[in-house]
Amino acid sequence: MSDCIFCKIVAGEIPSNKVAENEHALAFHDINPEQPVHILVVPKRHFTDVADLSLNDTAAVAQLMNFAAQVATENTNGHFRLQFNTGEQAGQTVFHVHGHILSRHAKEASA
Ligand code: 5GP
Ligand code: ZN
Repeated sequence: MSDCIFCKIVAGEIPSNKVAENEHALAFHDINPEQPVHILVVPKRHFTDVADLSLNDTAAVAQLMNFAAQVATENTNGHFRLQFNTGEQAGQTVFHVHGHILSRHAKEASA
């Protein structure tokens, strides 16, 4: 979608602080973190929200969940929330589906 900021981040047209990437999805740091770890995970294809994604591409749901769990495990101490705000009244402001990985504790660097 041409006017979608997360499509532009996926395309590299808007810079982001990338955490991880695979064929289907991208993870990057939220520009306005609410917790010590605040990472967004997005599918590279545009879907409006998690309902749109789930109704139209179940394989993409599995891919995104698997990717999100992997990114969360690699970047937190294993205690995290994975949150999909859906609809304006639930706080969604960017209408390209994204999961928020939120944690109070980043993974400790291994010696
Ligand atoms: P929502 O409120 O839609 O669930 O979450 C949108 C999130 O995207 C917010 O937490 C906001 O800080 C983040 N965000 C909005 N624009 C940008 C951007 O250009 N870059 C990054 N990295 N995060 C963004
Ligand atoms: Zn988009």
